[in-house]
Amino acid sequence: MAQITPQPGIMEIALYEGGQSHVEGVNDVLKLSSNENPYGPSPDAKQAIADAIGQIHRYPNTDHLPLREAIAEVHGLDPDRIICGVGSDEIIQFLCQAYAGPGDEVLHTEHGFAMYRISALAAGATPVEAPERERVTDVDALLAACTERTRLVFIANPNNPTGTMIGGNELARLADGLPEQAILVLDGAYAEFVDGYDGGAALVEARENVVMTRTFSKLYGLGGLRVGWGYAPKPIIDVMNRIRMPFNLSELQMAAAIAAIRDRSWAVRCKAENARLRVWLAEELAALGVPSDTSLANFILARFASAAEAEAVDAHLKSRGVIVRRVAGYGLPHCLRITVGDDAGCRRVVEGVRSFRECLS
Ligand code: PMP
Repeated sequence: MAQITPQPGIMEIALYEGGQSHVEGVNDVLKLSSNENPYGPSPDAKQAIADAIGQIHRYPNTDHLPLREAIAEVHGLDPDRIICGVGSDEIIQFLCQAYAGPGDEVLHTEHGFAMYRISALAAGATPVEAPERERVTDVDALLAACTERTRLVFIANPNNPTGTMIGGNELARLADGLPEQAILVLDGAYAEFVDGYDGGAALVEARENVVMTRTFSKLYGLGGLRVGWGYAPKPIIDVMNRIRMPFNLSELQMAAAIAAIRDRSWAVRCKAENARLRVWLAEELAALGVPSDTSLANFILARFASAAEAEAVDAHLKSRGVIVRRVAGYGLPHCLRITVGDDAGCRRVVEGVRSFRECLS
């Protein structure tokens, strides 16, 4: 019998590892491994789901207009340049599927988000990694890595898992320096946590080769519902809409996202708590000899003396029910990525690391 094989590149994809949520034998588990909002979504979002449930026998709206208008209103954007997807993951997938194929290159940073590589390989394209400078996106390295085959350049700003970001001038320099056929994708999954940052929206409006992606999974606390969006020049929106499944979002997803983005006071409070506790967590860990770079997102990347120590701390925290994220797969084996939880959650992390240190002394 002939061997049935998938398309080239597919078997190079390493399965995505989601954040673990159970620990064998531990009841009181605290999950700080997926950068979720510890306070959950706005209560209005939950109510909106309850209100929409009576209509689930009907197909959903295919053009997402009410959701696009709500996003446009809050961010001051053009609704015709917005596309909505099943998480921002789906927007990343649309871009790879539409713009990169066999022989093409998809560039990302050294410690970049896993889905760039996965979506590139799934599209038959070749992922290419550019080095960072001390865990910060390096525009010169990205520009140097471009070739005539580069079609997409992904950077997350702030980046996951490093938490660092680059400024508007650097973003513009990157957009301006790319080869003609390449699109710059600014992944703003964590943009909501940064004061005064538009996620790159102004750059999208000023250039033909820049796309921004955003999500409802982080600040808006809707990771389990899967809603994301992209902002792009109209020709790129048109291309993505041609490959988008017509009913990719349910009315429940759209109703919840509209309610979540309209509840500004919930968003403002969650953001402020995150900023306060992120500083506290970083300072407490630093006092225990665990440094981290200044993070602008809802997690910190804690650095340990060695990969062995990071692994041991991870196991120790797990034994106490605290799940954080090992990031060895991102080329950071000596680090742990820790989501900023609520007050009690952050205290549990610090107490866990302190007791690890005490066990050693
Ligand atoms: N981009 C980055 C940088 C992320 O960290 C994540 C989530 N981990 C995503 C995109 C995808 O998020 P979602 O599909 O939930 O919108």
